Amino acid sequence: MKKVVFFSIPAHGHTNPTLPVAAELVNRGHEVWYYSFFEFQKKIEEAGAQFISCDAFLPSISEKEVNRRAGKDFAALIEMAADTTIALDEKVCKELKEFQPDCIVSDSLCFWGKLFAGKLGIPYVCSTTTFAFNRHTAKLIKRGPKEVLRMITGMPRIHKKMQLLKEHGYQVDSFVSLIENDNETDTIVYTTKEFQPLAETFSDRYTFVGPSIRQPFDAPAGSKRQSVIYISLGTVLNQNKDFYRNCIEAFKDADAEIVMSIGGKTEITTLGRIPDNFTVKPHVDQVSVLQKADVFITHCGMNSVNESLYYGVPMVLYPLHSEQGLAASRVAELGAGIKLEGNKPKHIQKAAARLLADSGYREQARKLSETFQHAGGAAKAADVILKKAEKTS
Ligand code: UDP
Repeated sequence: MKKVVFFSIPAHGHTNPTLPVAAELVNRGHEVWYYSFFEFQKKIEEAGAQFISCDAFLPSISEKEVNRRAGKDFAALIEMAADTTIALDEKVCKELKEFQPDCIVSDSLCFWGKLFAGKLGIPYVCSTTTFAFNRHTAKLIKRGPKEVLRMITGMPRIHKKMQLLKEHGYQVDSFVSLIENDNETDTIVYTTKEFQPLAETFSDRYTFVGPSIRQPFDAPAGSKRQSVIYISLGTVLNQNKDFYRNCIEAFKDADAEIVMSIGGKTEITTLGRIPDNFTVKPHVDQVSVLQKADVFITHCGMNSVNESLYYGVPMVLYPLHSEQGLAASRVAELGAGIKLEGNKPKHIQKAAARLLADSGYREQARKLSETFQHAGGAAKAADVILKKAEKTS
């Protein structure tokens, strides 16, 4: 029996793909601990792992700040990660010295998992729920001027934090070494090699396992309408009343069943009259809905894109920040979706109508779906982790 410890940041998109992997390890008879946050406790425990809360150690930050920074302010992210590492240092180092894990699996943005592994000399596997990221792919991300300015003005703060980490016994050469995937680290990426931009720039230490998708909770119900359109802006930047209202306006008279997931922070009552062909909920079983959807209108979060391609559903692409922009460009480039030209009802309606009328988009999404369904998923990710854990015994 091997002992594996997971670390992740407080984000569903970064946690979800790891859960079937944790469950796979537990089912194979291994012991799994998972350092995470109360919001994710239930699903981590359902996967069979032991949940350990890091909530008390996260710097307190307002909801508004999270929304402002998510995906847009790398300097702030690095600062927060360094503070979290130092806050968790005593607790985690003590616990892990006692537990003696065979392997640490940490999300690529959860720098503290990587730092603990380095400090304690524990074998480490990087878990990447976004595209794999290196100097070459960095050039593909079109960062806005505000984002670049935040990065530049944040540099002195980053250097201070790097120094502080060193003082606490952490080996950090530069902040770049913290954020980029390198070619010497065993790395799991939850998309396919075919979909990863510049895949040839990543070494054979990378395993592209494709989406790690849990079983749907509900069997997809049939629809009486001609088509099914699913709309979601994910779980983070999903407070966008205007967009939801525009979607209602775009499809209120369509012969289509519309399923719209709006997140927990937008009151359904603020969206006006909900037409009969709409189902609007704070959260839906996305992997179930995608099995019956003809079109997915998405913010292009990496999991949403991966899940959509897994089920062969073409997408209307509405990225909200630069990394989502890269996923959107890749989908458009491969002919499995259309970028929105604007967010008004006429733009939304036109893009969805094109996807429904031109079978070429669905065809492309179906072709990609084959590679996504045969990439290995959670089982292959578990193999990578166990291989790493074996090497140490
Ligand atoms: N999700 C879901 N139901 C919803 C909305 C989202 O199950 O109503 C899941 C979705 O399947 C995906 C994750 O939440 O696994 C969202 O991750 P993504 O990377 O797409 O976007 P983020 O929320 O990180 O912006």
